[in-house]
Amino acid sequence: MPTSPSSSPPNQPAPHLKPGDEAMPGTPGAGEDLCEVCGGSGIQKDGSECPNCEGTGRVIHGIGGG
Ligand SMILES: [Zn+2]
Repeated sequence: MPTSPSSSPPNQPAPHLKPGDEAMPGTPGAGEDLCEVCGGSGIQKDGSECPNCEGTGRVIHGIGGG
């Protein structure tokens, strides 16, 4: 008999909200935008990783809405 595949594929990081995210990635009406804290560099002025975007330079912003 065939083995039923697992519902969670391997090698795929679990999505999580960064401090600067307003929605989960792939959320309808939300989109990726430059981090307003680091300006998209992912690095703060003192050279440390930006905590708002976790060093990615991008955050998810809600678009439109009420
Ligand atoms: Zn940032």
